[in-house]
Amino acid sequence: MGAPPLCGLPPLDGELAVDPLSRAAAADDFGHHARHYPRAVLHPGSVTDIEVMVRYCRDRRIPVAACGQGHATNGQAQAEGGLVIEMGSLRGIEVREDCAEVQAGARWSDVLGVTLAHGRTPPVLTDYLGLSVGGTLSVGGLGGATHRYGAQVDTVRELEVVTGAGTRVVCSPQRRADLFHAVLGGLGQCAIITRATVALTPAPPMVRRYELPYPTIGDLTADQRRVVGDGRFDYVEGNAEPAPDGAPGWRYTLEAASYHDGRTEPDDALLGDLSFERGAEEIEDMTYLDFADRVAPGVEYLKWTGEWYDPHPWLNLLLPDTAVDGFTASVMERLTAADIGPSGVVLLYPVPRALLGTPLPRTPDTRLVFLFALLKTATPGPGVPDADAMIAANRSLYERARDLGAVRYPVGSVPMSRGDWEAHFGDQWPVFAAAKRAYDPAGILAPGQGILA
Ligand SMILES: Cc1cc2nc3c(=O)[nH]c(=O)nc-3n(C[C@H](O)[C@H](O)[C@H](O)COP(=O)(O)OP(=O)(O)OC[C@H]3O[C@@H](n4cnc5c(N)ncnc54)[C@H](O)[C@@H]3O)c2cc1C
Repeated sequence: MGAPPLCGLPPLDGELAVDPLSRAAAADDFGHHARHYPRAVLHPGSVTDIEVMVRYCRDRRIPVAACGQGHATNGQAQAEGGLVIEMGSLRGIEVREDCAEVQAGARWSDVLGVTLAHGRTPPVLTDYLGLSVGGTLSVGGLGGATHRYGAQVDTVRELEVVTGAGTRVVCSPQRRADLFHAVLGGLGQCAIITRATVALTPAPPMVRRYELPYPTIGDLTADQRRVVGDGRFDYVEGNAEPAPDGAPGWRYTLEAASYHDGRTEPDDALLGDLSFERGAEEIEDMTYLDFADRVAPGVEYLKWTGEWYDPHPWLNLLLPDTAVDGFTASVMERLTAADIGPSGVVLLYPVPRALLGTPLPRTPDTRLVFLFALLKTATPGPGVPDADAMIAANRSLYERARDLGAVRYPVGSVPMSRGDWEAHFGDQWPVFAAAKRAYDPAGILAPGQGILA
Protein backbone atom coordinates (compact mmCIF):
# COMPACT_ATOMS: atom_id res chain seq x y z
CA MET A 1 0.00 0.00 0.00
CA GLY A 2 2.93 2.31 0.73
CA ALA A 3 4.54 2.80 -2.73
CA PRO A 4 5.36 6.44 -3.57
CA PRO A 5 2.91 8.40 -5.75
CA LEU A 6 3.50 8.65 -9.49
CA CYS A 7 5.05 11.99 -10.52
CA GLY A 8 5.51 13.73 -13.87
CA LEU A 9 2.58 11.94 -15.45
CA PRO A 10 1.80 12.49 -19.15
CA PRO A 11 -1.51 14.10 -20.16
CA LEU A 12 -4.27 11.51 -20.67
CA ASP A 13 -7.58 11.23 -22.52
CA GLY A 14 -8.96 9.03 -19.74
CA GLU A 15 -8.51 8.98 -15.98
CA LEU A 16 -5.86 7.79 -13.58
CA ALA A 17 -7.34 6.87 -10.21
CA VAL A 18 -5.08 6.85 -7.16
CA ASP A 19 -7.72 6.85 -4.42
CA PRO A 20 -7.66 3.97 -1.93
CA LEU A 21 -11.03 2.53 -3.03
CA SER A 22 -10.02 2.25 -6.69
CA ARG A 23 -6.69 0.71 -5.73
CA ALA A 24 -8.32 -1.75 -3.34
CA ALA A 25 -10.80 -2.80 -6.06
CA ALA A 26 -7.89 -3.44 -8.45
CA ALA A 27 -6.16 -5.51 -5.75
CA ASP A 28 -9.00 -8.02 -5.80
CA ASP A 29 -10.40 -10.51 -8.31
CA PHE A 30 -12.95 -13.32 -8.58
CA GLY A 31 -10.69 -15.52 -6.42
CA HIS A 32 -10.82 -13.04 -3.50
CA HIS A 33 -7.65 -14.45 -1.97
CA ALA A 34 -4.66 -12.97 -3.88
CA ARG A 35 -4.29 -9.25 -3.10
CA HIS A 36 -1.63 -7.04 -4.70
CA TYR A 37 -2.16 -3.30 -4.29
CA PRO A 38 -1.34 -1.13 -7.30
CA ARG A 39 -0.22 2.46 -7.06
CA ALA A 40 -2.75 3.62 -9.63
CA VAL A 41 -5.57 2.44 -11.85
CA LEU A 42 -5.85 3.69 -15.43
CA HIS A 43 -9.23 3.97 -17.13
CA PRO A 44 -7.89 4.64 -20.63
CA GLY A 45 -9.78 7.10 -22.81
CA SER A 46 -7.80 5.90 -25.85
CA VAL A 47 -5.18 3.38 -26.93
CA THR A 48 -2.72 6.28 -26.82
CA ASP A 49 -3.28 6.44 -23.05
CA ILE A 50 -2.12 2.83 -22.81
CA GLU A 51 0.94 3.54 -24.96
CA VAL A 52 2.06 6.57 -22.97
CA MET A 53 1.42 4.99 -19.57
CA VAL A 54 3.23 1.77 -20.51
CA ARG A 55 6.20 3.86 -21.67
CA TYR A 56 6.09 5.85 -18.45
CA CYS A 57 6.11 2.61 -16.44
CA ARG A 58 8.77 1.01 -18.64
CA ASP A 59 11.15 3.91 -17.99
CA ARG A 60 10.63 3.57 -14.23
CA ARG A 61 10.34 -0.25 -14.11
CA ILE A 62 6.85 -0.03 -12.65
CA PRO A 63 4.82 -3.24 -13.10
CA VAL A 64 1.69 -3.07 -15.28
CA ALA A 65 -1.26 -5.45 -15.59
CA ALA A 66 -4.20 -5.23 -17.95
CA CYS A 67 -7.46 -6.14 -16.25
CA GLY A 68 -10.49 -7.17 -18.27
CA GLN A 69 -13.25 -8.22 -15.92
CA GLY A 70 -10.99 -9.47 -13.10
CA HIS A 71 -12.44 -12.99 -13.32
CA ALA A 72 -9.15 -14.84 -13.08
CA THR A 73 -8.82 -16.18 -9.54
CA ASN A 74 -5.19 -15.87 -8.49
CA GLY A 75 -4.05 -12.26 -8.94
CA GLN A 76 -3.30 -12.75 -12.65
CA ALA A 77 -4.56 -9.20 -13.42
CA GLN A 78 -2.96 -7.49 -10.42
CA ALA A 79 0.27 -5.49 -10.08
CA GLU A 80 1.78 -4.89 -6.64
CA GLY A 81 2.98 -1.28 -6.39
CA GLY A 82 2.25 -0.85 -10.08
CA LEU A 83 -0.38 0.21 -12.59
CA VAL A 84 -3.57 -1.71 -13.36
CA ILE A 85 -5.16 -0.81 -16.69
CA GLU A 86 -8.92 -1.36 -16.53
CA MET A 87 -9.67 -2.24 -20.14
CA GLY A 88 -13.44 -1.92 -19.76
CA SER A 89 -13.44 1.68 -20.94
CA LEU A 90 -12.33 0.54 -24.43
CA ARG A 91 -15.14 -1.69 -25.70
CA GLY A 92 -16.05 -0.60 -29.26
CA ILE A 93 -17.31 -3.31 -31.67
CA GLU A 94 -17.62 -3.15 -35.46
CA VAL A 95 -19.04 -5.96 -37.54
CA ARG A 96 -17.68 -6.62 -41.03
CA GLU A 97 -18.88 -9.33 -43.42
CA ASP A 98 -17.51 -12.42 -41.69
CA CYS A 99 -15.60 -10.94 -38.76
CA ALA A 100 -15.83 -8.36 -36.00
CA GLU A 101 -13.26 -5.82 -34.90
CA VAL A 102 -13.53 -5.68 -31.17
CA GLN A 103 -11.78 -3.56 -28.59
CA ALA A 104 -10.30 -5.81 -25.93
CA GLY A 105 -12.28 -4.38 -23.00
CA ALA A 106 -15.59 -5.51 -24.53
CA ARG A 107 -17.29 -8.46 -22.87
CA TRP A 108 -18.39 -11.41 -24.98
CA SER A 109 -21.98 -10.51 -24.06
CA ASP A 110 -21.39 -7.08 -25.69
CA VAL A 111 -19.90 -8.76 -28.76
CA LEU A 112 -22.77 -11.22 -29.11
CA GLY A 113 -25.34 -8.45 -28.66
CA VAL A 114 -23.89 -6.56 -31.62
CA THR A 115 -23.14 -9.51 -33.91
CA LEU A 116 -26.60 -11.08 -33.44
CA ALA A 117 -28.13 -7.95 -34.93
CA HIS A 118 -26.21 -8.98 -38.09
CA GLY A 119 -27.30 -12.63 -37.82
CA ARG A 120 -23.78 -13.66 -36.77
CA THR A 121 -21.96 -15.02 -33.73
CA PRO A 122 -18.41 -15.69 -32.63
CA PRO A 123 -18.03 -19.42 -33.29
CA VAL A 124 -16.81 -20.19 -29.75
CA LEU A 125 -18.25 -18.59 -26.65
CA THR A 126 -17.25 -19.19 -23.06
CA ASP A 127 -19.91 -20.56 -20.70
CA TYR A 128 -20.16 -17.18 -18.99
CA LEU A 129 -20.33 -14.18 -21.32
CA GLY A 130 -19.32 -11.58 -18.73
CA LEU A 131 -15.60 -12.13 -19.47
CA SER A 132 -13.59 -9.65 -21.53
CA VAL A 133 -12.29 -10.37 -25.01
CA GLY A 134 -8.71 -9.51 -23.94
CA GLY A 135 -9.02 -11.65 -20.81
CA THR A 136 -10.09 -14.85 -22.55
CA LEU A 137 -7.74 -14.36 -25.52
CA SER A 138 -4.85 -14.12 -23.10
CA VAL A 139 -5.70 -17.59 -21.69
CA GLY A 140 -7.29 -19.43 -24.64
CA GLY A 141 -11.09 -19.32 -24.37
CA LEU A 142 -12.70 -22.76 -24.27
CA GLY A 143 -16.36 -23.62 -24.65
CA GLY A 144 -18.82 -26.22 -25.89
CA ALA A 145 -18.11 -25.34 -29.54
CA THR A 146 -14.35 -25.81 -29.11
CA HIS A 147 -14.74 -29.41 -30.31
CA ARG A 148 -15.71 -27.92 -33.67
CA TYR A 149 -13.77 -24.64 -34.00
CA GLY A 150 -10.90 -24.81 -31.49
CA ALA A 151 -10.40 -22.26 -28.72
CA GLN A 152 -11.34 -18.60 -29.09
CA VAL A 153 -7.70 -17.81 -29.81
CA ASP A 154 -7.94 -20.08 -32.87
CA THR A 155 -10.64 -17.81 -34.32
CA VAL A 156 -8.58 -14.61 -34.16
CA ARG A 157 -7.33 -13.14 -37.46
CA GLU A 158 -5.48 -10.05 -36.31
CA LEU A 159 -4.56 -8.20 -33.14
CA GLU A 160 -3.63 -4.66 -32.28
CA VAL A 161 -1.45 -4.63 -29.17
CA VAL A 162 0.65 -2.30 -27.07
CA THR A 163 3.90 -4.05 -26.24
CA GLY A 164 5.75 -3.78 -22.94
CA ALA A 165 7.96 -1.23 -24.69
CA GLY A 166 4.87 0.96 -25.13
CA THR A 167 4.65 0.52 -28.89
CA ARG A 168 1.37 -0.03 -30.73
CA VAL A 169 1.72 -2.91 -33.22
CA VAL A 170 -0.71 -4.75 -35.51
CA CYS A 171 0.09 -8.45 -35.79
CA SER A 172 -1.42 -11.53 -37.43
CA PRO A 173 -0.26 -14.94 -38.68
CA GLN A 174 1.20 -13.12 -41.71
CA ARG A 175 2.59 -10.02 -40.00
CA ARG A 176 4.78 -10.11 -36.87
CA ALA A 177 3.65 -13.71 -36.35
CA ASP A 178 6.06 -14.14 -33.40
CA LEU A 179 4.26 -11.40 -31.48
CA PHE A 180 0.80 -12.65 -32.51
CA HIS A 181 1.63 -16.11 -31.20
CA ALA A 182 3.23 -14.79 -28.02
CA VAL A 183 0.11 -12.80 -27.17
CA LEU A 184 -2.69 -15.32 -27.83
CA GLY A 185 -2.76 -17.49 -24.74
CA GLY A 186 0.29 -15.54 -23.55
CA LEU A 187 -1.16 -14.56 -20.15
CA GLY A 188 -0.53 -10.87 -20.78
CA GLN A 189 3.26 -11.34 -20.67
CA CYS A 190 4.42 -9.66 -23.88
CA ALA A 191 1.76 -7.09 -24.77
CA ILE A 192 -1.63 -5.66 -23.95
CA ILE A 193 -4.29 -6.55 -26.49
CA THR A 194 -6.22 -3.43 -27.51
CA ARG A 195 -8.20 -4.78 -30.48
CA ALA A 196 -8.91 -8.22 -31.94
CA THR A 197 -10.39 -9.21 -35.27
CA VAL A 198 -12.43 -12.34 -34.56
CA ALA A 199 -14.13 -14.61 -37.09
CA LEU A 200 -17.92 -14.79 -37.15
CA THR A 201 -20.24 -17.57 -38.28
CA PRO A 202 -23.98 -17.45 -39.03
CA ALA A 203 -25.95 -17.46 -35.77
CA PRO A 204 -28.58 -20.21 -35.54
CA PRO A 205 -32.04 -18.97 -34.54
CA MET A 206 -32.78 -21.90 -32.24
CA VAL A 207 -30.96 -24.49 -30.15
CA ARG A 208 -32.12 -27.88 -28.94
CA ARG A 209 -30.31 -28.58 -25.69
CA TYR A 210 -29.85 -32.09 -24.30
CA GLU A 211 -28.92 -33.00 -20.74
CA LEU A 212 -28.11 -36.71 -20.70
CA PRO A 213 -27.38 -38.37 -17.33
CA TYR A 214 -24.76 -41.07 -16.76
CA PRO A 215 -23.98 -43.16 -13.67
CA THR A 216 -20.17 -43.20 -14.07
CA ILE A 217 -17.41 -41.10 -15.54
CA GLY A 218 -16.38 -43.90 -17.87
CA ASP A 219 -19.90 -44.02 -19.37
CA LEU A 220 -19.89 -40.24 -19.83
CA THR A 221 -16.46 -40.01 -21.45
CA ALA A 222 -17.17 -42.99 -23.75
CA ASP A 223 -20.17 -41.17 -25.21
CA GLN A 224 -18.33 -37.84 -25.28
CA ARG A 225 -15.62 -39.46 -27.40
CA ARG A 226 -18.27 -40.91 -29.68
CA VAL A 227 -20.15 -37.64 -30.27
CA VAL A 228 -17.03 -35.51 -30.62
CA GLY A 229 -15.61 -38.11 -33.00
CA ASP A 230 -18.60 -38.04 -35.37
CA GLY A 231 -19.42 -34.36 -34.83
CA ARG A 232 -23.15 -34.95 -34.50
CA PHE A 233 -23.69 -32.08 -32.05
CA ASP A 234 -22.83 -28.40 -32.41
CA TYR A 235 -21.97 -28.10 -28.75
CA VAL A 236 -20.55 -30.65 -26.28
CA GLU A 237 -19.71 -30.23 -22.62
CA GLY A 238 -20.22 -32.30 -19.47
CA ASN A 239 -20.41 -31.90 -15.75
CA ALA A 240 -20.82 -33.67 -12.40
CA GLU A 241 -23.27 -32.80 -9.66
CA PRO A 242 -23.78 -34.34 -6.24
CA ALA A 243 -26.14 -37.32 -6.54
CA PRO A 244 -29.76 -36.33 -5.87
CA ASP A 245 -31.62 -36.73 -2.56
CA GLY A 246 -28.48 -36.79 -0.42
CA ALA A 247 -27.26 -40.07 -1.96
CA PRO A 248 -23.47 -40.47 -1.87
CA GLY A 249 -21.37 -39.84 -4.94
CA TRP A 250 -21.86 -37.89 -8.14
CA ARG A 251 -24.16 -37.86 -11.13
CA TYR A 252 -22.64 -37.12 -14.51
CA THR A 253 -24.27 -35.24 -17.36
CA LEU A 254 -23.41 -34.88 -21.01
CA GLU A 255 -24.59 -31.45 -22.09
CA ALA A 256 -25.01 -31.25 -25.85
CA ALA A 257 -26.81 -29.02 -28.29
CA SER A 258 -27.95 -29.02 -31.90
CA TYR A 259 -28.54 -25.73 -33.64
CA HIS A 260 -31.61 -25.39 -35.84
CA ASP A 261 -33.75 -22.84 -37.63
CA GLY A 262 -37.00 -23.56 -35.76
CA ARG A 263 -38.66 -24.97 -38.91
CA THR A 264 -36.68 -28.19 -39.38
CA GLU A 265 -36.02 -29.56 -35.95
CA PRO A 266 -33.07 -31.81 -35.10
CA ASP A 267 -33.75 -35.52 -35.20
CA ASP A 268 -33.65 -36.96 -31.69
CA ALA A 269 -32.40 -40.17 -33.30
CA LEU A 270 -29.07 -38.41 -32.62
CA LEU A 271 -29.39 -39.96 -29.16
CA GLY A 272 -30.13 -43.50 -30.42
CA ASP A 273 -26.77 -45.17 -29.82
CA LEU A 274 -25.84 -43.28 -26.64
CA SER A 275 -25.84 -45.08 -23.32
CA PHE A 276 -27.30 -42.46 -20.95
CA GLU A 277 -29.94 -43.36 -18.37
CA ARG A 278 -33.09 -43.48 -20.52
CA GLY A 279 -36.07 -41.59 -19.19
CA ALA A 280 -33.97 -39.20 -17.09
CA GLU A 281 -32.80 -37.06 -20.02
CA GLU A 282 -33.93 -33.46 -20.38
CA ILE A 283 -34.50 -31.86 -23.78
CA GLU A 284 -35.52 -28.27 -24.41
CA ASP A 285 -35.61 -25.78 -27.26
CA MET A 286 -34.53 -22.20 -26.73
CA THR A 287 -33.29 -19.23 -28.72
CA TYR A 288 -29.58 -19.10 -29.45
CA LEU A 289 -29.20 -16.01 -27.24
CA ASP A 290 -30.93 -17.69 -24.28
CA PHE A 291 -28.70 -20.72 -24.79
CA ALA A 292 -25.46 -18.73 -25.08
CA ASP A 293 -26.34 -16.65 -22.02
CA ARG A 294 -27.90 -19.44 -19.97
CA VAL A 295 -25.43 -19.07 -17.09
CA ALA A 296 -26.50 -15.45 -16.45
CA PRO A 297 -29.60 -16.19 -14.28
CA GLY A 298 -27.49 -18.50 -12.08
CA VAL A 299 -24.89 -15.75 -11.71
CA GLU A 300 -27.61 -13.27 -10.67
CA TYR A 301 -28.83 -15.80 -8.11
CA LEU A 302 -25.33 -16.27 -6.66
CA LYS A 303 -24.93 -12.49 -6.46
CA TRP A 304 -28.20 -12.39 -4.55
CA THR A 305 -27.11 -15.13 -2.09
CA GLY A 306 -23.68 -13.48 -1.82
CA GLU A 307 -21.78 -16.65 -2.86
CA TRP A 308 -20.56 -14.89 -6.02
CA TYR A 309 -18.42 -12.70 -3.74
CA ASP A 310 -16.89 -15.59 -1.73
CA PRO A 311 -13.37 -16.88 -2.51
CA HIS A 312 -13.11 -19.01 -5.67
CA PRO A 313 -9.94 -21.08 -5.60
CA TRP A 314 -10.49 -22.79 -8.95
CA LEU A 315 -8.57 -25.69 -10.42
CA ASN A 316 -8.67 -26.11 -14.21
CA LEU A 317 -6.72 -28.94 -15.82
CA LEU A 318 -6.33 -30.26 -19.33
CA LEU A 319 -5.94 -34.02 -19.10
CA PRO A 320 -4.62 -36.41 -21.73
CA ASP A 321 -7.24 -38.86 -22.99
CA THR A 322 -5.07 -41.72 -21.76
CA ALA A 323 -5.38 -40.56 -18.13
CA VAL A 324 -8.80 -38.97 -17.98
CA ASP A 325 -10.91 -41.92 -16.88
CA GLY A 326 -8.55 -43.20 -14.18
CA PHE A 327 -7.58 -39.79 -12.82
CA THR A 328 -11.04 -38.23 -12.71
CA ALA A 329 -12.62 -41.40 -11.28
CA SER A 330 -10.06 -41.48 -8.46
CA VAL A 331 -10.58 -37.77 -7.74
CA MET A 332 -14.38 -37.97 -7.81
CA GLU A 333 -14.39 -41.07 -5.60
CA ARG A 334 -12.82 -39.06 -2.79
CA LEU A 335 -14.34 -35.65 -3.53
CA THR A 336 -17.30 -34.60 -1.39
CA ALA A 337 -19.79 -31.89 -2.28
CA ALA A 338 -18.38 -29.82 0.63
CA ASP A 339 -14.87 -30.00 -0.91
CA ILE A 340 -15.98 -27.69 -3.74
CA GLY A 341 -18.36 -25.56 -1.65
CA PRO A 342 -22.14 -25.26 -1.90
CA SER A 343 -22.14 -23.55 -5.31
CA GLY A 344 -19.13 -25.46 -6.67
CA VAL A 345 -19.24 -26.85 -10.20
CA VAL A 346 -17.35 -29.75 -11.81
CA LEU A 347 -16.78 -29.63 -15.57
CA LEU A 348 -15.48 -32.42 -17.79
CA TYR A 349 -15.46 -32.31 -21.58
CA PRO A 350 -13.25 -33.28 -24.49
CA VAL A 351 -11.55 -31.20 -27.14
CA PRO A 352 -9.71 -32.53 -30.22
CA ARG A 353 -6.14 -31.32 -29.92
CA ALA A 354 -5.72 -30.84 -33.67
CA LEU A 355 -8.14 -27.90 -33.49
CA LEU A 356 -6.04 -26.13 -30.87
CA GLY A 357 -3.58 -24.72 -33.36
CA THR A 358 -2.37 -21.63 -31.47
CA PRO A 359 0.97 -22.53 -29.87
CA LEU A 360 0.81 -21.03 -26.38
CA PRO A 361 -2.25 -22.37 -24.69
CA ARG A 362 -0.53 -25.60 -23.69
CA THR A 363 -2.24 -28.94 -24.11
CA PRO A 364 -1.39 -32.56 -23.34
CA ASP A 365 0.03 -34.64 -26.11
CA THR A 366 -2.95 -36.85 -27.03
CA ARG A 367 -5.41 -36.64 -29.95
CA LEU A 368 -8.21 -35.78 -27.54
CA VAL A 369 -7.75 -33.74 -24.37
CA PHE A 370 -10.30 -33.21 -21.59
CA LEU A 371 -10.96 -30.05 -19.62
CA PHE A 372 -11.47 -31.11 -16.00
CA ALA A 373 -12.38 -28.21 -13.75
CA LEU A 374 -13.18 -28.05 -10.06
CA LEU A 375 -14.81 -24.62 -9.79
CA LYS A 376 -14.74 -24.24 -6.03
CA THR A 377 -16.40 -21.66 -3.81
CA ALA A 378 -15.08 -21.37 -0.26
CA THR A 379 -18.40 -20.33 1.26
CA PRO A 380 -18.13 -21.02 5.00
CA GLY A 381 -20.26 -24.04 5.91
CA PRO A 382 -20.15 -27.53 7.46
CA GLY A 383 -17.16 -29.43 6.14
CA VAL A 384 -16.24 -26.75 3.55
CA PRO A 385 -12.46 -26.20 3.54
CA ASP A 386 -11.24 -22.61 3.65
CA ALA A 387 -9.62 -21.02 0.60
CA ASP A 388 -6.07 -21.87 1.73
CA ALA A 389 -6.95 -25.54 2.17
CA MET A 390 -8.66 -25.57 -1.24
CA ILE A 391 -5.55 -24.06 -2.83
CA ALA A 392 -3.32 -26.65 -1.16
CA ALA A 393 -5.64 -29.39 -2.48
CA ASN A 394 -5.41 -27.81 -5.94
CA ARG A 395 -1.63 -27.96 -5.86
CA SER A 396 -1.61 -31.59 -4.86
CA LEU A 397 -4.12 -32.58 -7.58
CA TYR A 398 -2.16 -30.51 -10.10
CA GLU A 399 1.02 -32.43 -9.26
CA ARG A 400 -0.71 -35.78 -9.62
CA ALA A 401 -2.26 -34.76 -12.92
CA ARG A 402 0.99 -33.23 -14.24
CA ASP A 403 2.78 -36.52 -13.59
CA LEU A 404 0.21 -38.15 -15.89
CA GLY A 405 0.88 -35.65 -18.69
CA ALA A 406 -1.73 -33.00 -17.82
CA VAL A 407 -1.24 -29.23 -17.95
CA ARG A 408 -3.08 -26.42 -16.21
CA TYR A 409 -5.58 -24.25 -17.99
CA PRO A 410 -4.06 -21.29 -16.16
CA VAL A 411 -7.11 -19.30 -15.04
CA GLY A 412 -7.38 -20.71 -11.53
CA SER A 413 -5.52 -20.87 -8.24
CA VAL A 414 -2.46 -23.10 -8.11
CA PRO A 415 0.81 -21.79 -6.62
CA MET A 416 3.52 -22.18 -9.31
CA SER A 417 7.28 -21.67 -9.22
CA ARG A 418 9.20 -20.37 -12.22
CA GLY A 419 10.33 -23.97 -12.79
CA ASP A 420 6.71 -25.09 -12.87
CA TRP A 421 5.99 -22.48 -15.53
CA GLU A 422 9.00 -23.54 -17.55
CA ALA A 423 7.75 -27.13 -17.45
CA HIS A 424 4.22 -25.94 -18.25
CA PHE A 425 5.32 -24.20 -21.45
CA GLY A 426 7.66 -27.08 -22.39
CA ASP A 427 9.15 -26.72 -25.85
CA GLN A 428 7.47 -23.30 -26.23
CA TRP A 429 9.35 -21.88 -23.22
CA PRO A 430 12.47 -20.62 -25.10
CA VAL A 431 10.28 -19.01 -27.78
CA PHE A 432 8.03 -17.43 -25.15
CA ALA A 433 10.99 -16.21 -23.07
CA ALA A 434 12.61 -14.71 -26.20
CA ALA A 435 9.36 -12.90 -27.07
CA LYS A 436 9.20 -11.55 -23.51
CA ARG A 437 12.74 -10.18 -23.79
CA ALA A 438 11.99 -8.64 -27.19
CA TYR A 439 8.57 -7.14 -26.47
CA ASP A 440 8.70 -6.43 -22.74
CA PRO A 441 12.39 -5.61 -22.28
CA ALA A 442 11.89 -4.03 -18.84
CA GLY A 443 9.88 -7.06 -17.68
CA ILE A 444 6.97 -4.98 -16.40
CA LEU A 445 3.89 -6.74 -17.81
CA ALA A 446 1.51 -9.07 -15.92
CA PRO A 447 3.66 -9.81 -12.86
CA GLY A 448 0.76 -11.47 -10.97
CA GLN A 449 1.81 -15.09 -11.48
CA GLY A 450 5.60 -14.61 -11.48
CA ILE A 451 5.86 -16.43 -14.82
CA LEU A 452 8.81 -14.73 -16.48
CA ALA A 453 9.81 -12.44 -13.61
C1 LIG B 1 -17.86 -17.47 -14.04
C2 LIG B 1 -16.68 -17.76 -14.93
C3 LIG B 1 -16.86 -18.58 -16.03
C4 LIG B 1 -15.79 -18.88 -16.87
N1 LIG B 1 -16.00 -19.65 -17.96
C5 LIG B 1 -15.00 -19.91 -18.80
C6 LIG B 1 -15.20 -20.68 -19.98
O1 LIG B 1 -16.30 -21.16 -20.25
N2 LIG B 1 -14.15 -20.89 -20.79
C7 LIG B 1 -12.92 -20.36 -20.54
O2 LIG B 1 -12.02 -20.55 -21.32
N3 LIG B 1 -12.69 -19.66 -19.43
C8 LIG B 1 -13.69 -19.43 -18.56
N4 LIG B 1 -13.45 -18.70 -17.42
C9 LIG B 1 -12.08 -18.26 -17.13
C10 LIG B 1 -11.78 -16.96 -17.88
O3 LIG B 1 -11.67 -17.17 -19.26
C11 LIG B 1 -10.47 -16.36 -17.45
O4 LIG B 1 -10.40 -16.23 -16.08
C12 LIG B 1 -10.28 -15.01 -18.13
O5 LIG B 1 -8.94 -14.60 -18.00
C13 LIG B 1 -11.18 -13.99 -17.47
O6 LIG B 1 -11.35 -12.90 -18.30
P1 LIG B 1 -11.29 -11.48 -17.61
O7 LIG B 1 -11.72 -10.50 -18.64
O8 LIG B 1 -12.01 -11.42 -16.33
O9 LIG B 1 -9.72 -11.40 -17.41
P2 LIG B 1 -8.89 -10.84 -16.17
O10 LIG B 1 -9.13 -11.70 -14.99
O11 LIG B 1 -9.17 -9.40 -16.03
O12 LIG B 1 -7.41 -11.06 -16.69
C14 LIG B 1 -6.91 -12.37 -16.82
C15 LIG B 1 -5.52 -12.33 -17.41
O13 LIG B 1 -5.60 -11.78 -18.72
C16 LIG B 1 -4.78 -10.63 -18.82
N5 LIG B 1 -5.49 -9.66 -19.63
C17 LIG B 1 -6.73 -9.13 -19.44
N6 LIG B 1 -7.01 -8.28 -20.45
C18 LIG B 1 -5.94 -8.27 -21.26
C19 LIG B 1 -5.63 -7.59 -22.45
N7 LIG B 1 -6.48 -6.73 -23.03
N8 LIG B 1 -4.43 -7.82 -23.02
C20 LIG B 1 -3.55 -8.69 -22.48
N9 LIG B 1 -3.79 -9.36 -21.34
C21 LIG B 1 -4.98 -9.16 -20.74
C22 LIG B 1 -4.61 -10.15 -17.39
O14 LIG B 1 -3.45 -9.37 -17.24
C23 LIG B 1 -4.54 -11.46 -16.65
O15 LIG B 1 -3.25 -12.02 -16.77
C24 LIG B 1 -14.49 -18.38 -16.57
C25 LIG B 1 -14.32 -17.58 -15.44
C26 LIG B 1 -15.39 -17.28 -14.63
C27 LIG B 1 -15.18 -16.44 -13.42
